[in-house]
Amino acid sequence: MNARPAENIGADKIVGHFINGADVADDNRPLAVTNPATGEVTKHVAMAAKATVEDAIAAADAAFPAWRNTPPQKRAKIMFRFKQLLEEHADEIVAALTDEHGKVLDDAMGEFFRGVEVVDYACGVSELLKGEHCKNVSLNVDSWSEFQPLGVVAGITPFNFPAMVPMWMFPMAIACGNTFVLKPSEKDPSAPMLVAHLFKQAGLPDGVYNVVNGDKEAVDTLLEDPRVQAISFVGSTPIAEYIYATGTRNGKRVQALGGAKNHAVVMPDADIDNAVSALMGAAYGSCGERCMAISVAVCVGDDTADEVVSKLKRELQGLKVGNGIESGNEMGPLVTRAHYEKVRGYVDLGLDEGAELVVDGRNLVVDGHEDGFFLGACLFDKVTPDMRIYREEIFGPVLCVVRAESQEQAMLLIDKHEYGNGTCIFTRDGEAARYFADNIQVGMVGINVPLPVPVAMHSFGGWKRSLFGDLFAYGPDSVRFYTRRKTITQRWPTGGVREKAQFSFPSNR
Ligand code: NAD
Repeated sequence: MNARPAENIGADKIVGHFINGADVADDNRPLAVTNPATGEVTKHVAMAAKATVEDAIAAADAAFPAWRNTPPQKRAKIMFRFKQLLEEHADEIVAALTDEHGKVLDDAMGEFFRGVEVVDYACGVSELLKGEHCKNVSLNVDSWSEFQPLGVVAGITPFNFPAMVPMWMFPMAIACGNTFVLKPSEKDPSAPMLVAHLFKQAGLPDGVYNVVNGDKEAVDTLLEDPRVQAISFVGSTPIAEYIYATGTRNGKRVQALGGAKNHAVVMPDADIDNAVSALMGAAYGSCGERCMAISVAVCVGDDTADEVVSKLKRELQGLKVGNGIESGNEMGPLVTRAHYEKVRGYVDLGLDEGAELVVDGRNLVVDGHEDGFFLGACLFDKVTPDMRIYREEIFGPVLCVVRAESQEQAMLLIDKHEYGNGTCIFTRDGEAARYFADNIQVGMVGINVPLPVPVAMHSFGGWKRSLFGDLFAYGPDSVRFYTRRKTITQRWPTGGVREKAQFSFPSNR
């Protein structure tokens, strides 16, 4: 492959862009990229100027007519090769993820393969694009609907899943016949670049997939350019809301997935040991930097809460925190110094607000990694809904335990919360679980499953202020998002017979 492996990129190197099938060097406003486990600057990434983004849009626009007319089966063949190349290069891409994001290798591998599963789904695009057909809707009149690609579409993605979240978007968009411009996170830019080179190697024509690195200037160019037909965004809620408002005002189709505060309800009858194991992974995996992380455990009854808290406390004593590249570690560092300060500030705030800090990770030092952005796991008990640590997304290894008296009270809390991304219930009671799943105001629900991230043949999305737009990411919704329905009604006059003009509205009355 042509891409430079992550380890060959030194601090003086600048990650540029991938436009029209080629690396584009760029030293415009280089931004430092750090290894969060060591605090070292390992490379820089260029912040694209407006003109560079316009070059990428122009390349995608030029590639669209031929790609749109490429038969879906041929597009699928490229997807098959792409999937195979992704699997062959998994180690290299996953190493880049850990190097720049900090998550432990196993977790990075999991993220990567959940992205590959969407490529897998995109391989079936010929089946997914089959239209709807009705014969003889009126005498000798046939009618059908088909799903046509939109044109140039753009994706803007967050730091926390630098491989998977772009793969939620571009494989399906491209399989449906669109061309694509990705603006990944500036915090961990290498994986998307490596993936772009593999797509080219799989046989993707130049210009169909482009990557521009950048910040607000790049994003605003995508939002304003009339050639961009649709935008998929994943990130924090304030930016999601901005993207949705600006993109739709400019006439684009927009789906903007935002932040979260995911609650797990622990019922008194739950298998508490298994619930505690599940909470450990869901709250502290990836250092809590997942949009589906459990950040609130709502324990029903004081006995349940006491048991959950004491067992979590015991488990947390054994949590292995360290450099994600070293095997055996379970939790790595936070992504940047600034994010570390922000999360740590929330722990201080929780104490000021009167919550009980049962486990305090603020003084953790990882030997040999004194400059890394490590924050130990933190556990708050007796958190109440008026506290900011309850209301706001912290996005770090901080779990808040809230005590509720009943399932109804627990559900009311969840329903009242601003976010509605994911939730789960731990119980042995099928009726309670069914009631929960039926009625809770959240987009993705787990029953004894702490991270109910839908697999590739379902679609991913939250409710309330966790999603702006109508359609979810990947899965069946992505076919609808990345295509426009056209309905054609056809009639061929028979036998040269001249028919009379009809002035009444045609119906089958
Ligand atoms: P972010 O909102 O800061 O950034 C996301 C993207 O928007 C990045 O590409 C960034 O460069 C760009 N951006 C940032 N500020 C901008 C601005 N002012 N104008 C235009 N573009 C801007 O998010 P993040 O910190 O990278 O990621 C973490 C957030 O993403 C969390 O809130 C998390 O919950 C959310 N997230 C949500 C989902 C989901 O599916 N709902 C998935 C993953 C992450």
